[in-house]
Amino acid sequence: MPDDTASKSDQYKMQDPTTQYHSEGFPKQPMDAPGLAKDMTPKPDHGEDTYRGSERLQGRKAVVTGGDSGIGRATALAFAREGADVVIAYLPEEEDDAKEVLEHIEATGHKGVGVALDLSVEENCQQLIDRAVQELGGIDILVNNAGKQTAVEAIADLTTEQMEKTFATNVYAMVWLSKFALPHMPAGATIINTTSIQAYQPSPTLLDYAMTKAAIANFTHNFAQQVASKGIRVNGVAPGPIWTPLQPSGGQPQEALPEFGQDTPLGRAGQPAELAPAYVFLASQESSYITGEIIGVTGGNHLP
Ligand code: NAD
Ligand code: MG
Repeated sequence: MPDDTASKSDQYKMQDPTTQYHSEGFPKQPMDAPGLAKDMTPKPDHGEDTYRGSERLQGRKAVVTGGDSGIGRATALAFAREGADVVIAYLPEEEDDAKEVLEHIEATGHKGVGVALDLSVEENCQQLIDRAVQELGGIDILVNNAGKQTAVEAIADLTTEQMEKTFATNVYAMVWLSKFALPHMPAGATIINTTSIQAYQPSPTLLDYAMTKAAIANFTHNFAQQVASKGIRVNGVAPGPIWTPLQPSGGQPQEALPEFGQDTPLGRAGQPAELAPAYVFLASQESSYITGEIIGVTGGNHLP
C-alpha cells in the first residue's frame, strides 16, 4: 500500500475527513448479488491494517450476521481485536470473503467461527443461534447486520418475490434472531441492528428496502423498552452511503456508482472501517446508559 493511502486510512491520525479514504466516485462494476469484497475496485477498507483494540470487549461472545464483508466484516474484525470471540454468518456463495475475515479474527488469538446459511428462513436463524451457543458458550452481543438491497426504478417492476425476500432478510431475520438469542443473553448483553439513512430519507429506487430500514429503526426503539428491565440494551446504527458489495451488486443502478456518496455534506462515500467504532461503542459497557438509540454514520446527512 503506498504511504499516502496508508496514512489516509489511519483512523487515529487527525486529518481532513473530506479527503480521508477514497474521496472520488467509483467505476461501474456489475456483479451478481450478494457480491464479493474481493472483486471490488477499489477495495473497501475494513480496518484490516489499522483498527487497534483496547480490550473493550474482553471475553465477550459475539454473533455478527453478514460478517463476511462490508460493515459486518469491519465490525467482526474490530470486535475480535477488542477481545471477543466471534461467530460470523454469511451466504454459502460468500465463502471466499468469509475465509479472509476468519483469518483476521484468528490472528488476534480469539475464536472465529463461520456459519454459511440463508437467514431469510426461520429454521436457519434458530440453527445459527444454536451453533453460536454451542461454539461460544452463550451470546453477549448480537449484531443484526445482514441485508438485501435491490434498486428498482419503478413500482411496476417491484415484484412480490423481491419484496418478500427483502423483508425476510432485513426484518424477519432480525426478529427471529433476537427472539432465539434472548434466552441465552445475560444482563449486560447488547443487540445492535443495522438500519440506514434510508429509514428517514428514502431514495425512490429503494421503495421496499427503505421500508425495511424504517421497520428496523422502529423495532430498535420498541424492543429496547421490552428488554430494558432484563439489563439488555438494543441499539441501532444508521449508515449513509458506504462502499461495500451491497452497492455494485444491485443495491444501486450501475449509472449511480460514479457519483455514489458524493452528495453527502462530507462529499464522499464512507468506508466500512468508519462504521466499526460505532458498533464497538454500542456493544461495550461504555454505552451503558444508551438503549433504544440510533447512531447515524452518514457523512453529514441527518437523522430526524
Ligand atoms: P455487504 O454486502 O458487505 O453485507 C451484507 C451481507 O448480508 C452480505 O455479506 C451477506 O452475507 C448478508 N446477507 C444478505 N442476504 C442474506 C441472507 N438471505 N442470509 C444471510 N445473509 C445474508 O454490504 P453492507 O453494506 O456492509 O451491508 C450491511 C448492512 O448495512 C445491511 O443491513 C445494509 O442494508 C446496511 N446498510 C448499508 C449501507 C451502504 O451504503 N453500504 C447503507 C446503509 C445501511
Ligand atoms: Mg458479503
